[in-house]
Amino acid sequence: MSQEIPYKIYLSEDEIPTQWYNLRADMKKKPAPLINPATLKPLTAEELSVVFCKELVDQELDENTAFVDIPEEIRNFYKMYRPSPVVRAYCLEKYLDTPAEIYYKFEGNNTSGSHKLNSAIAQAYYAKKQGLKGVTTETGAGQWGTALSMASAYLGLDCKVYMVKCSYEQKPFRREVMRTYGATVTPSPSNTTEIGRKILAEFPGTTGSLGCAISEAVEVATSTEGYRYVLGSVLNQVLLHQSVIGLEAKKALDKYGIKPDMIIGCAGGGSNLGGLIAPFMREKLRGENDYRIIAVEPASCPSFTRGKYAYDFCDTGKICPLAKMYTLGSGFIPSASHAGGLRFHGMCPTLSELYDQGMMEAVAVEQTSVFEAATMFARVEGLLPAPESSHAIRVAIDEALKCKQTGEKKKILFGLTGTGYFDLVAYQKYNDGEMGDYIPTDEDIQKGWASMPKVDL
Ligand SMILES: *Cc1c(COP(=O)(O)O)cnc(C)c1O
Repeated sequence: MSQEIPYKIYLSEDEIPTQWYNLRADMKKKPAPLINPATLKPLTAEELSVVFCKELVDQELDENTAFVDIPEEIRNFYKMYRPSPVVRAYCLEKYLDTPAEIYYKFEGNNTSGSHKLNSAIAQAYYAKKQGLKGVTTETGAGQWGTALSMASAYLGLDCKVYMVKCSYEQKPFRREVMRTYGATVTPSPSNTTEIGRKILAEFPGTTGSLGCAISEAVEVATSTEGYRYVLGSVLNQVLLHQSVIGLEAKKALDKYGIKPDMIIGCAGGGSNLGGLIAPFMREKLRGENDYRIIAVEPASCPSFTRGKYAYDFCDTGKICPLAKMYTLGSGFIPSASHAGGLRFHGMCPTLSELYDQGMMEAVAVEQTSVFEAATMFARVEGLLPAPESSHAIRVAIDEALKCKQTGEKKKILFGLTGTGYFDLVAYQKYNDGEMGDYIPTDEDIQKGWASMPKVDL
């Protein structure tokens, strides 16, 4: 390479993609459809429209359109914080003394602190366009709730957020950011919903889970006039919106003729990873190029590596559609790990299908080793990473260290999904040596599976 690669590869505003890319269009075997738990038939657009905005339902069900225009209003909002840079981690490479080249796409450069704003603004836009009064949602670590609060404030929509109780308590400042943007924030499970009261009665003292919070938010959306539910991950529409990450990353790397050998991302519901890999997976699906793609999940909530590929409920309350995905069972309540954004029992159906087809790999990593990587990264690269993102950092470092053994000059791209300013209680635990590793036993996992629907689909 004659041209020296800068620390940061920026695109210009004009280079923000004008279209999102729908990964499913290039999959020969498509992800399995969402199923109505009552009829056991694929959900129709009409049924989904009770829960979601119309245009988002269309996006959810469209598995054939490869490129979808990004509305001008959304693209203008993107311009306030995008394009996001691809950074060459020169300092980390030097510190590790590795021949590998490490690049990361940094999505933490907005107030919500993560990639979630990319889909929040899209979903809020379609809700507004439909003339709705407001939206309801759940949030785990708080990034999605913050992103949706920002997008709702911008468009003048009401926003009701159900926040997983352990995060609500660990992250009071997140809550205040959401309230500052005008959202109502309720810890979940709560006694404001029927399902919340039921869960509280069954599991008193529970610290909650994304699954519980989803049930509550859906219940409120479907029982309140002028409201719909929006979801920050898992769904195909969210992957579609997040493709802006990968499209930008690929455009930036292409400028310098860089072809990554491997692409690494943390996986909670799968949206940032699905977005980051989108254009690369496109080439892989079309047989044009090959890439190693690695999903990193917490050992405390290992949907890919220890889950089953089967139809399951997306929520603890079992009111959402059934999705075929890698899952630990909707009744699996993960331990209160510090990567709240990765505590979902399932994985998005599109990535689940790609994983099942052998198009990508997955590894599970333990919390303390994740914080060790986070700390190393913060000290040499400067940015304070979110615990979720640090799962990807962990594996990027491990892969770079393997290159040190073999002398291979591999090119590694990973997704740095967000910053960790609201995760300082977790950092404090790590710094004080009080952080533990929670790995579910086989028995815990069996218990989760016992909650799965007893249907043969
Ligand atoms: C929510 C979140 C994740 C995980 O969600 P995905 O849908 O799997 O991308 C990862 N990192 C950060 C910073 C998050 O906020």
